[in-house]
Amino acid sequence: MLEAAMELLFLGTGPAEAIPRMGHDDALCRDGMKPHSKSRRLRSAALLRFRETSILLDAGPDIGYQLASHRVQHIDAALLTHAHLDAAGGLRTLADWASTTGRVLPVYTELPTQKRYGTFSGLEYRFVKSGGTAKIGALSTRFLRMRHSLQPGFPTLGFRIGKLAYASDVASIPTQSLKHLQGVRTLVLDAAFWFAQKYRGHLTPDKSIKYAQWLGVEHLVLTQTGHTYPPHAEAERALKAYAREHAPHLKLTLAHDGLRIKQP
Ligand SMILES: [Zn+2]
Ligand SMILES: [Zn+2]
Repeated sequence: MLEAAMELLFLGTGPAEAIPRMGHDDALCRDGMKPHSKSRRLRSAALLRFRETSILLDAGPDIGYQLASHRVQHIDAALLTHAHLDAAGGLRTLADWASTTGRVLPVYTELPTQKRYGTFSGLEYRFVKSGGTAKIGALSTRFLRMRHSLQPGFPTLGFRIGKLAYASDVASIPTQSLKHLQGVRTLVLDAAFWFAQKYRGHLTPDKSIKYAQWLGVEHLVLTQTGHTYPPHAEAERALKAYAREHAPHLKLTLAHDGLRIKQP
C-alpha cells in the first residue's frame, strides 16, 4: 500500500510587502496586477497537511484572506519562524479565526517572538528551542535556528518535518542546523533577492541552490520572492536555465501563491 504523502500548500510566497505594490508601474507589479498572475504574491505562509493533521507555517498580515480563500477550517497548530511583521503580524486575525472554530490553537515559537505580539485568547503559546522537536498530530517537527535578522534578540527558525524542510527567512544556515537538514529531500528555502542583489538578511537563488546541492536534496522550492525579481514567467525561465548549468540534477521550482507540492 502506498504511504500517504505530505502536502504543502503555499498560502503566500511574497516578501515583507506584498506584490503588486500600490502606485508602482514596474514590469513585476504590472504583471502582478493581472488576475491569477503568478507574480501576485501575498506575505509568505504555508499549510502542511498529512492525513488528518494540518500545520500552519507563519501568520502574516494576509492570514485572514489566505485561510478564507483556501477554505481552511481546521488547523492543529501554527508554527512561527520569527517576529517580523510579515511572519507574525497576523496573530490577532489568527486568534479571531481560531475562536470561530471553538478550539484553542497551539502556536509554537520562541519567547522573544511571542513577547513582541503579546497574548490573544484563542491562541496558546508553546515555547520551543532551536534543535528541539514537537509532536503535532501525526507529525514530528524539528525547530532549526536560521540566521536572518541583523537585530540581536530577534531569533529566526526553520522547520524540518519528515523529509521536508521549510525556511522562508534565511541569510545563512548555521552548521548545527545543516546537520539536522541531512536527509531532507524537499527543501523550501528563502530566495528573496534576485541574483547579485546584496542584502544581508536574505538569500539569493544562487546561494539557495548551493545549499540544496551541498545537502543533496532532490527538490528545491524557492519562496519569499521579492520585488527585485523579474515577472514570474521570466524569473522561472532564468532560474531553470541557471539550474541546468549549475545544478543539473536538482529539481527546481519557483513557488507561487496556491502552489501545492508533495513529499512522501
Ligand atoms: Zn513594483
Ligand atoms: Zn524577516
